[in-house]
Amino acid sequence: MSADEYRSRQLRRRTAEVHAGQMPDPTTGASAPNLVMSSTFVVDEPVSFSALDQPDDPPYIYTRWDNPTLRQLEEKLAVLEEGEAAAAYASGMAATTAVLFGTLEAGDRLVISDVIYPGIAELSRDTLPRMGIQVVPVDTSDLEAVEQALGSKARLIWVETPANPILRLADIAAIANLAHTAGARLAVDSTFATPVATRPLSLGADFVIHSLTKYLGGHGDAIGGAVVSNREEISHLRTEATIHYGGVLSPFNAWLIARGMATLSLRMEAHEAGALAIAEWLEDHDAVGTVVYPGLESHPQHELARQQMENFSGMVTFQVTGGEDVAAMMMKGLEVIHYAVSLGHHRSLIYWLSTADLMATSYHLEGDQLASYRSYAGDGIFRLSVGLEDPSDLIEDLATVLG
Ligand code: PLP
Repeated sequence: MSADEYRSRQLRRRTAEVHAGQMPDPTTGASAPNLVMSSTFVVDEPVSFSALDQPDDPPYIYTRWDNPTLRQLEEKLAVLEEGEAAAAYASGMAATTAVLFGTLEAGDRLVISDVIYPGIAELSRDTLPRMGIQVVPVDTSDLEAVEQALGSKARLIWVETPANPILRLADIAAIANLAHTAGARLAVDSTFATPVATRPLSLGADFVIHSLTKYLGGHGDAIGGAVVSNREEISHLRTEATIHYGGVLSPFNAWLIARGMATLSLRMEAHEAGALAIAEWLEDHDAVGTVVYPGLESHPQHELARQQMENFSGMVTFQVTGGEDVAAMMMKGLEVIHYAVSLGHHRSLIYWLSTADLMATSYHLEGDQLASYRSYAGDGIFRLSVGLEDPSDLIEDLATVLG
């Protein structure tokens, strides 16, 4: 059912995950959604060859412009994120570049979380200044620092909450207020939270960005990304970013990701339950130092997590003395958990991140910003994405290495 029909019926979240954007095929009655693997479409009336000269509701012309399977996924995303429209991209990074390059121009100022997915940290620090954009990395858990950084001229603020990899939170509603007062717009990368936990647009954000590769797809078999916003912003991104930058999602990946999204709430409940069980076990373990999980009372921003997250998600970070050596033992010793990057899959994944490496390559933090990072992440962390396996098997697997 289309996003508008879905909204007018006011069906509930789990029903939206299954049905929004999708309906039985009108020609065959097929109950499962169609996968349309066609790069081009036959038209029966003259259509302009330019994306800049199209009627309001153009027919399908070419899959880089629009595709029925992608549209299903986009409608489902828009409903789940409580936005008007969505645009899907080939990866979370393609969705990120769509928003950054599609909204900023030379002379603009971007304020951005100083701890964030490293690819976005590096893109903003190394590439955007070359295009004349001033980039100000700030600790977005510190509202005074955010207000100061916004000043009077920032065009956009980019926040990731919970932030990869240290699970530090940012107060979306408060930052939306500060941004709008300063005349800036707010973009929130909500990959770690998912719409089951948090709907940033409802809290005042202007854009929500997802790596669909993670919880939304949920099965580790398709890379994808998306932006959700109002119709006007998405229509602008469609022309400029989708059609002209060209980082479009394959219909096959869109189909896989939409199938994953049908079980999002159920999976998030299991991810959260598993993560809480493992975080509590780690907190009691003698060999383990700090454990960071938004659902633990010991999380420095647990109160904010309770206000802003209806589900604490499945990501846990923890510290172990001699982390690099423990990581080497995990690569050989773990039998259930995969030692691999990425997150949000049905399989549990773990990876060790050295603070020194991250500072040298991605973050370059100093002073108070480095101190804030260290208070969460010390000298290296394990980032564990708790999957859908039985938590007791995951604990036994970790115990074979941690003792
Ligand atoms: N945003 C976050 C929070 C991420 O963790 C990642 C990847 O890990 C990305 C964006 C980039 O997504 P993708 O790998 O789909 O390009």
